[in-house]
Amino acid sequence: YECVKNIKADTKEIYELAISIEELARQLSEQEQLRKRLSNDISHELRSPLAVLRSQIEALIDGVLEPTEERLARLNDEIVRMTKLINDLNELVTIESEHLQLKIMKINLAEELSTSIDGFIPLMESKGIQLIHESESEIYINGDKDRLKQIFVNLLTNAYKYTNEGGIIKVILTKNEDEAIIRFIDTGIGIKKGDLSYVFQRFYRGDESRSRKTGGAGIGLSIVKELVKAHDGIITVDSEIGKGSIFTIKFKLSQ
Ligand code: ADP
Repeated sequence: YECVKNIKADTKEIYELAISIEELARQLSEQEQLRKRLSNDISHELRSPLAVLRSQIEALIDGVLEPTEERLARLNDEIVRMTKLINDLNELVTIESEHLQLKIMKINLAEELSTSIDGFIPLMESKGIQLIHESESEIYINGDKDRLKQIFVNLLTNAYKYTNEGGIIKVILTKNEDEAIIRFIDTGIGIKKGDLSYVFQRFYRGDESRSRKTGGAGIGLSIVKELVKAHDGIITVDSEIGKGSIFTIKFKLSQ
């Protein structure tokens, strides 16, 4: 198509066609790079837990380790964790490769937030965390109910995981002239300033969270970011270590 581009033909269409082919080639190469990076990441993430499992099982077979109930339960936990990881990765691939079909409808945000938040009440109570919800009513956006719920649940799960006992989690919904603004505020462990720009990258986990027994793999926020983007929205984070974090989402209001 390089040569096609050079022809000063009277056929404007051929020139335009060449441009679109060029654009298509660029997109394909971008997708190819994304796919390669993702498969590298996936094998990296799965290789080490698999190696651990394998060596433990070999030791059990060889009789070097006793198959105690506790040991078997730990192996099982690891398999459950890897299964979750595979499911999350599957989800991320679907979303990133734009196979995601949103079922758009007019959404009452206060209502949707309530539904998601209500599901967290027992969990928060069990950890002595105060969960506060303040929503202005009559705020509508065009969105996919299930996907929005997925966004809210992921952010609430993180707020829960990274907030210590007796903390406070607030969800506040407001609006300005043309946007709905949702803030998830917690009094948790916070995120280092230098880490803030990485938290939405897949597999990124803060040092603190890596040492916590929360079982995540650093995929939740990348799914959230893609879902917010699919809704034409934006998500930002602000945080102070030891004080807490604020995740802010902005969506265009439905007309
Ligand atoms: P995961 O929680 O599985 O590690 P996420 O993609 O959901 O993965 O989050 C990425 C990282 O961002 C976490 O490991 C943690 O370091 C940081 N993080 C996310 N939410 C919070 C929060 N509310 N408070 C403190 N740190 C957070």
